Order: sequence, then structure tokens, then C-alpha cells
Amino acid sequence: MDISGMHTWGVKYPPLIIAGPCSAESKEQLYSTAASLKTIGIDIIRAGVWKPRTRPGNFEGAGDSALNWISEIRDELGLKFATEVATPLHVEKALKANIDVFWVGARTTANPFAVQELAEAIKGVDKPVLVKNPLNPDISLWLGALERINRAGVTKLAAVHRGFSSFQKSRFRNPPTWHLAIELKSELPQMPLICDPSHIAGERSMIMELCQKAMDLDYDGLMVEVHIRPEEALSDTKQQITPDELKRLIDGLKIRKRTSDNVRFLTKLEELREKIDLVDQELLETLSARMKLVDEIGFYKKENNVTVFQLERWKYLLKTRSDLGTSLKLDKMFVEKLYKLIHDESIRSQTEIMKKNNTGNKT
Ligand code: PEP
Ligand code: MN
Repeated sequence: MDISGMHTWGVKYPPLIIAGPCSAESKEQLYSTAASLKTIGIDIIRAGVWKPRTRPGNFEGAGDSALNWISEIRDELGLKFATEVATPLHVEKALKANIDVFWVGARTTANPFAVQELAEAIKGVDKPVLVKNPLNPDISLWLGALERINRAGVTKLAAVHRGFSSFQKSRFRNPPTWHLAIELKSELPQMPLICDPSHIAGERSMIMELCQKAMDLDYDGLMVEVHIRPEEALSDTKQQITPDELKRLIDGLKIRKRTSDNVRFLTKLEELREKIDLVDQELLETLSARMKLVDEIGFYKKENNVTVFQLERWKYLLKTRSDLGTSLKLDKMFVEKLYKLIHDESIRSQTEIMKKNNTGNKT
């Protein structure tokens, strides 16, 4: 993909900070939020004009009126504005209102037909377009949407990580599942990556830790929901913070460098990495020795017509390894996840053994 980096966007970065209300609700709300954000140095204001609500009847955005407020405030305060576009008509109206940055929402990213129509409407527009991850934890839809828009000639592109829906109970509204964003970054290293902590958290007390984590993972920017009076917000009330809170958050963020040219740092890092390389060699040799034993047991079970899965043994193994891991100062959840992975692989391998040259026993 042909991606032009953030240096071509004419914005302050890194990190790029986009902040503003979930939705533009009134001219006064938008003006006072934007003016306060300007005083703390924010130059791109987000504001939803058309709100995708799961069920009808909720506040669906102020539409055309919101576009008028944005145009007026944009000129008066000299700020840039970003909004969500979900249909070609939204694009047409947003272009007329001189919206500076477009974003594609999570519900739209999940629908290739909608993304294709958007891409055609955006064709030839030289403005940044941000693509949120789809609700389902699948990076191919996310990549596909970025590709479709890129093929329409948009090179000022960025991916926004806003968390994924999940059936599992979680403290997050949309669990971040960080490894999916890292996978996207590995596939497209040149694609700027922005974190949206507000929709991940769903709750304001977690915003700071998510922003810090995104910075530690080398994200290029943040998109944070900020409302002048969050408790009165018409959408996403619990996750919006005030401009003052955003200021404190930014002041408290630790921005780390990608690397250091300090020779002592580099030498020590290399030394430690060499040690890790050796430990990894041993780790894999040990795993390979374990798998050989697993296979030996597989053949033995087969000879004796005994099932692959042994519940009591699995329960014993999980408990003893988790205890051992804890005594070795390893995280309990980590050890349990690791053993589930190892056990799955053992079952897969023994099942293969059961199938192999299986002449007499299969019915
Ligand atoms: C939003 O940014 O307000 C929004 C609706 O986001 P998402 O598409 O990520 O749900
Ligand atoms: Mn929102």
C-alpha cells in the first residue's frame, strides 16, 4: 500500500491527539468543548454528526445542523475537525462543510459493500481517513477496508484501534485484544496506528492506563472522547472526560523513544538479547523433548486402545504446573494459557497418531 506518513497531514505529532465529544449536540456544547481543547493545545476536534445507534430511538446525531456548527466553529477557532462518515451522502455533505478528517466507524468497517461505496465517494480526496477496527475480532476486515480506501487513491490513511466485541465477561466495554492491533502493525508497518481508549474502556477511569499502554506499544496517536460536561452527554456518557482531565492525562503520559543511540544502552541490550536467544534455544529443545514423550504416550495409548484425552491427568497437570509456575514467580494466567496451548498441541499430535495406519480399529 502506498501510505503517506503523518508528516504529510499538517498536524502536530507524535503523538497525534484527536479529542472531542462523542457527538456534536448543540452549538454551545461543541464550541465550549472545542475552545477548551484549543487552550490545551489540541488542534483536531472529533465530533460525531451521524451516530450509528444499535437500536432506533436513541440520539442519532444532529446531522446537518451539526455540520453548520462545525463550519462556523472551525473558522472562528482555526481548528481542524474530524467526523464519522458511513454513506456516500455523508461524504458529500462533510466535504461541503470542509470537514478536515474523516473516520470510518467500526460498524461500517465490518461491511465491505459499505466500505466500497465510501471508497468511491472519497476517491481523489486529499484528506486523512481513519479506519476503525471492525467490531468482530478479525483483522482481515480491517485490512480489507484500509486496502479498499487506499485503492481509491487515499494515501493519508491511519488505523484506529477501538477494541473488539466479545461474549466473554470483561472489565472493558470492547476488550482491546492488543495482539490484533500488533498483528495489523506487523502486516502494515507503515500504517499509522491510533488508539481510541474511550470505546475500549466504556468507562472514564480506565482511559489513562489505556493511553499509557498505547504509548508503550509505540502507537502514533490517540483519539479520546472529551465533553465539556460529560455527565450531560447524549451518547457514551460514562466514557467521556473533561478537557481538564485530558490536560492532566497528557501531562502524565510517559512518551518513550523508539530506541536510544546511547552506546552503553545498546551494548547492554545486545548482551541481554544474546542471553534470551540461548534461553529460547533451550526452551524449544525442551518443548521438542516433551512432544517426543507425548508421541510415545500416544502410540502406547493406541496399542492399549485408550482415549487420547484423560480428564484427571489434565486437571492434575494444570493444577501442578500452575502452582509450580507461581512458585517460580510466573503469572498464573500466563502459565495456564501456556499449558492449554501445549495440551491442545499434545491432543492434536496424539490424534494424528491414532489415525495413522489405522487399519483394524476404525469402524
Ligand atoms: C465513535 O467514535 O463515537 C463511534 C461511534 O465509534 P465506533 O465506530 O468505534 O463505535
Ligand atoms: Mn462514542
